[in-house]
Amino acid sequence: MITALVDITVDFPILKRQINGHRLIYLDSAATSQKPQSVIDRLVQYYETTNANVLRSVHTLAEEATTAMEEAREKIARFIHAKSPREVIFTRGTTESLNTIARAWGDKFLEAGDEIVLSPMEHHSNLIPWQQLAKRVGAKLKFIELQPNGTITVEAVKQQITERTRIVTLSAVSNVLGTINPIAEVAVLAHQVGAIMVVDGAQSVPHGPTDVQALGIDFLAFSGHKMLGPTGIGVLWGKEALLEAADPVMFGGEMIAYVDRDDATWAELPAKFEGGTPHIAGAIGLGTAIDYLSTIGMERIEEHSRMLAEEAYRRLANLSDVVVYGPEYPRTSLVAFNIVGIHPHDIAQVFDSRGIAIRAGHHCAQPLMHWLDVSSTARASFYLYNSDRDIDELVDAIEATKRYFK
Ligand code: PLP
Repeated sequence: MITALVDITVDFPILKRQINGHRLIYLDSAATSQKPQSVIDRLVQYYETTNANVLRSVHTLAEEATTAMEEAREKIARFIHAKSPREVIFTRGTTESLNTIARAWGDKFLEAGDEIVLSPMEHHSNLIPWQQLAKRVGAKLKFIELQPNGTITVEAVKQQITERTRIVTLSAVSNVLGTINPIAEVAVLAHQVGAIMVVDGAQSVPHGPTDVQALGIDFLAFSGHKMLGPTGIGVLWGKEALLEAADPVMFGGEMIAYVDRDDATWAELPAKFEGGTPHIAGAIGLGTAIDYLSTIGMERIEEHSRMLAEEAYRRLANLSDVVVYGPEYPRTSLVAFNIVGIHPHDIAQVFDSRGIAIRAGHHCAQPLMHWLDVSSTARASFYLYNSDRDIDELVDAIEATKRYFK
């Protein structure tokens, strides 16, 4: 039996909703997670009691807002075991973080003929910024060959790394296959040729402990909204020396040390990468989400996400006319599937009529869809508020969909 890690009726008000006459069964957390009451309350409390712009003024509200935002930064630094809060840059999310790395570090340090190694399973957010960088500087993308079950081996990575490799970038967990990639081992290979290791942590940071130092990586990108936090806030973590060496990409207020008519110098980290007014409430709300996750414990969450994903895979793989993608084990947090002869959008429609929210489409991973030889899939994704009861509902809904269309 796999029980939810939280009392959903108490902590997650949205999960009390009825959708089309049924209890909401939310199986779309890989797209965005639901928010606990404590995060919702913190946002309201911030706007009711503290709202002010950070860093700019000396009045009490501005100082309180600045302190609250910087406390959130410190929490995030501890959560991912960063060496210092200066290494934590607030962004809008994973997409902005990855684009920032490509511009800030890539534009400065890559040259024509250099190579960027990545996988065909990357979300478009961890592909297009590198495609664009490659076009700007004349670099080349090199793709790691996937195993037949969608996994990445260290051997396959070795085959793509050469003396010209400057960047190796991988998602720690695939948002379609649920696979867990060997990040620490790949980081060692990257460093052997002097390349940097960039990690898309959008699907991994919400589902288990993250230790950037133990992983030995150079940059990490993740989104607050997939880990119980508000939308519009995310994190770019980078090793301090690399962030110091990189150039800012967003120019304007708060990111400067000194400006005259013709030129400017840059502020210290992290302000150098945070031009303009940040999403203050979002950052504070993300700090509260981290408190909530930490109280439950990231090890427990990791075990829960893995158990649900493996159980869902096993049960779906045993159904007739159902195709599931990726390995049975190890996997985490989600399962992508198709029902033979039924379009994923039709599956999602029938599910919605039963109060079940899933995602259908290419999941912003079109090259992976090509590799799987499908145009789209359905995807059920889980989080700490899901239980094996939701998997029962998933299986029932698949059977009902088959009956409906046959
Ligand atoms: N990378 C992966 C693996 C994802 O799953 C997602 C979102 O689904 C992203 C990047 C992009 O995240 P965001 O839209 O929050 O920037």
